[in-house]
Amino acid sequence: MKIYEFQAYEIFIKRGIPSPWGEVAKTSEEVKKIAEKLGRPVVVKAQVLVGGRGKAGGIKLASTPEEAYQAAERILNSKLKGILVKRVFVKESVSIKEEYYLGVTVDRAQKRVVVMVSPAGGIDIEEVARTNPEKIFKFYVHPLLGFKSHQANELASALTKDKNLVQGIAKILSALYRIFDEMDSSLVEVNPLVITKEGSLFALDAKIIFDDNALYRHPEISSLRDLEVEDPLEVRAKEVGISYVRLEGNIGCIVNGAGLAMATMDLVKHYGAEPANFLDVGGGASSQQVGKALDIVLSDEQVRAVLVNIFGGITRCDIVAEGLIQALSKREMNLPLIIRLTGTNEEEGRKKLRGIKGIFLADTMNEAAKKAMEVVKS
Ligand code: GDP
Ligand code: MN
Repeated sequence: MKIYEFQAYEIFIKRGIPSPWGEVAKTSEEVKKIAEKLGRPVVVKAQVLVGGRGKAGGIKLASTPEEAYQAAERILNSKLKGILVKRVFVKESVSIKEEYYLGVTVDRAQKRVVVMVSPAGGIDIEEVARTNPEKIFKFYVHPLLGFKSHQANELASALTKDKNLVQGIAKILSALYRIFDEMDSSLVEVNPLVITKEGSLFALDAKIIFDDNALYRHPEISSLRDLEVEDPLEVRAKEVGISYVRLEGNIGCIVNGAGLAMATMDLVKHYGAEPANFLDVGGGASSQQVGKALDIVLSDEQVRAVLVNIFGGITRCDIVAEGLIQALSKREMNLPLIIRLTGTNEEEGRKKLRGIKGIFLADTMNEAAKKAMEVVKS
């Protein structure tokens, strides 16, 4: 889960990471007031959940409140990389002498958390990794020992010889690591960390991504989620414990088990059709769960046919059939429903479904996927 810069900034401030003062605003008038209150040049920054805002025109410097108003007029409610900008962050502008990169993430190959610094800050770090990998300095953290201050010092020394700055940067690195560790993040990044002409350190940008699988441990973080930018169907699915990802195609898939869901999507594609979604009803696949899954899949207007692929292990096929029948009785269903049920109580399950209008029973996954393709192509 990504959060906005202004939200990450608040976490940075709480953890003592030096950042220029700022406030978030939704209108140009508010932006002007913030700039007036500050009485100094500001930077007006689009709040969207993508990087590279600077290059895309989402960040503007303004030396007067009037200029800040004009900048906000241009940024607010415009589209940045295809995303509508609803908010801007108005920050005190600082003069930049050097731009560094600091980041903490997981290195999957090393199976460790890695703390990284680079003197080539301000630009996309992937770009630096491609063109100047020698400009990225890394420290792999031992999972039991953690990240010690002398290690932070050593890493910071790769950026500058100035003792005071090394100490300051080391402190910031330690704070970033603590955020990463305590808040179950997958990425904590400052790009750029700047040294001003006066010699002070400031985090000019703030980026945190949280691990979705650990959010249950952090209710205070979940509340930062911007529901407006998320797919409403995905939000609804999450609420009822269904893994659902909307895709581009028109065959809605209801499957139990993530592996089987992937295999089902592969087969649909194999037959030249496109799945409308990934959907895993989850462990028990109770009749209610299947009903909810059907509701979610049918709410996607692109869907032209629904493919149900259930393997009954702990899940009983007759119960799944019940769930489908109940869900169908509650709504007008005009789309073909292709069902492949196999495993525990499959005969009882099929018996319940046989003869219902609009339902096609398939014996194998192959047959089901092929049938789904035929009905959407016909
Ligand atoms: P990003 O492009 O989405 O990563 O947004 P950043 O917050 O990193 O800003 C992009 C660039 O804008 C930075 O690398 C800086 O060069 C510039 N910038 C941001 N804030 C300031 C500021 O306060 N003063 C000046 N002079 N430049 C800034
Ligand atoms: Mn940045």
